[in-house]
Amino acid sequence: MLDQLYRQLVIEHSRNRRNHRKLEGSKVQQKHYKNPTCGDVMTLFMEVSTDKRINDISFVGEGCSISMASASMMTELIKGVSVEEASQLREAMEQMIRKGEVSEDIDLGDALALEGVHKLRARHNCALMAWQALDRILGDYPEYRLK
Ligand code: ZN
Repeated sequence: MLDQLYRQLVIEHSRNRRNHRKLEGSKVQQKHYKNPTCGDVMTLFMEVSTDKRINDISFVGEGCSISMASASMMTELIKGVSVEEASQLREAMEQMIRKGEVSEDIDLGDALALEGVHKLRARHNCALMAWQALDRILGDYPEYRLK
């Protein structure tokens, strides 16, 4: 039953992608990301405020339903949080997908629907693509770093 519900949530997000648009402006950073395993591609757009809060986040891309649903779910989760919280969410997501461990402290919201991807090793990169793009942006720009 739960599986069915999760599957529907993934399909719903992949069809009605949240924040699926470009962001423009001088403060917008972007990162193109490719998942060679499956051919998924995306560009992540992000605008971070001077107090290190993610003001806005969006993506454009094409790929399998897991990758697109995951990107959609991620933008919903990340919008408005601090860089530090974004980083914690990313770690929790990585842990769930790679190790099958669901964090008790950090709520991944709709992205919890992707828990089952842990068992599909070949799809790990699909579920994590958007999160890896996020990590790259946060890592690339020194002003976004925590220290
Ligand atoms: Zn994929």
